[in-house]
Amino acid sequence: MTIKFKSPYRHRSVVPGLPAPSEYSALLDEITANGWYSNFGPLVRRLELGLLGAFGRPTECCVSCSSATTGLSAALLAADVTGAVLVPAFTFAASLGAIRAAGMTPVVVDVDPESWVIDNDLLHQALTETGARAAMLVAPFGIAYDWTKEIATCREHGAAVIIDNAAGLGGPRAPHGNGENIFEVFSMHATKPFAIGEGGAIFASLKSDMPLRAALNFGLASYQNAHGPFWGFNGKMSELHAAVGLAQLARFDRIVRHRQAYVRRYLARLATYSNLRYPLDSKAAPWQLFPILMPTPQIAERFVATAANEGLEIRRYYRPSLSDWPSTRIFSPCRVAEDLAERMCALPIRSAEPDADLVMKIVFEALDVALD
Ligand SMILES: *Cc1c(COP(=O)(O)O)cnc(C)c1O
Repeated sequence: MTIKFKSPYRHRSVVPGLPAPSEYSALLDEITANGWYSNFGPLVRRLELGLLGAFGRPTECCVSCSSATTGLSAALLAADVTGAVLVPAFTFAASLGAIRAAGMTPVVVDVDPESWVIDNDLLHQALTETGARAAMLVAPFGIAYDWTKEIATCREHGAAVIIDNAAGLGGPRAPHGNGENIFEVFSMHATKPFAIGEGGAIFASLKSDMPLRAALNFGLASYQNAHGPFWGFNGKMSELHAAVGLAQLARFDRIVRHRQAYVRRYLARLATYSNLRYPLDSKAAPWQLFPILMPTPQIAERFVATAANEGLEIRRYYRPSLSDWPSTRIFSPCRVAEDLAERMCALPIRSAEPDADLVMKIVFEALDVALD
């Protein structure tokens, strides 16, 4: 039996941009010759070194994983914390799930209305009142953000910092250092710019290399080395995914340039609209999607519906706010995240796909109808 998937949309929100099999078939032959398919094999190590060279700092390690979600859980275990973990309300549900999967308890905190990241005053208050030993900081839409202030707040309370920058691989890295217990986690899911299918990468201080690998490999390495974490799960990247990753890395500069050029086309046309809010720097991210904040929830609804009529899928991120997720502990009411969730629309990004011009045309026609 064959299962056929057909999207109801002529133009999907995200078109996965993976390298063609011909770009990594030689690497698949190499894997077969090696007879080594997982457990931090030679291609995985090569990819980690390549990512470190392209996007890392000399004082960091890069550890690959099977997804950003497993990477976030592994970082929490490697940070050697338990109990409450703070997480912003304006994020993808994966941030929440990763905390639960690590055996810890998420506590949801509201975000700042301007930057869309966790509110630093609330972060301070929540660390004081909950005694949380870790905070997950989320970079919405993979947009580079300077975390200096938030990291200082966490440091003051002795809390580990896990940065969920899932969509940001290949964008500029924030200028903060990579002190102990600061982890930055990226996704290589098919829908992210650095697409390999499923995969992730964690950048952290060199000291965290072994604990991260231990957490991703059932805790075995920590048992052998006699320091924690003493438990873990299977979150390793396979050699097959690393082969796709190496091919992706070889062409990724060009892909990011195309995506950023598409954003500049949005920016040029958006400049004639007032009362829309969106990021202004085309180089701030590799752009999985381009967020725009509509003036009202009704306009957001109308925009999505009008685009859908023309066959274009517009997704709403991040909705619902985690404060509306069932059986979730919130630190305080999350009015900002709930408002953002109802008004944010994520515009599609194209690299060199044939429908690039048409998608742009539909977006602005739908925008004009919605704002009329
Ligand atoms: C995509 C995404 C994730 C999940 O990444 P996976 O690799 O699919 O696990 C987590 N957080 C955010 C903010 C994301 O955008």
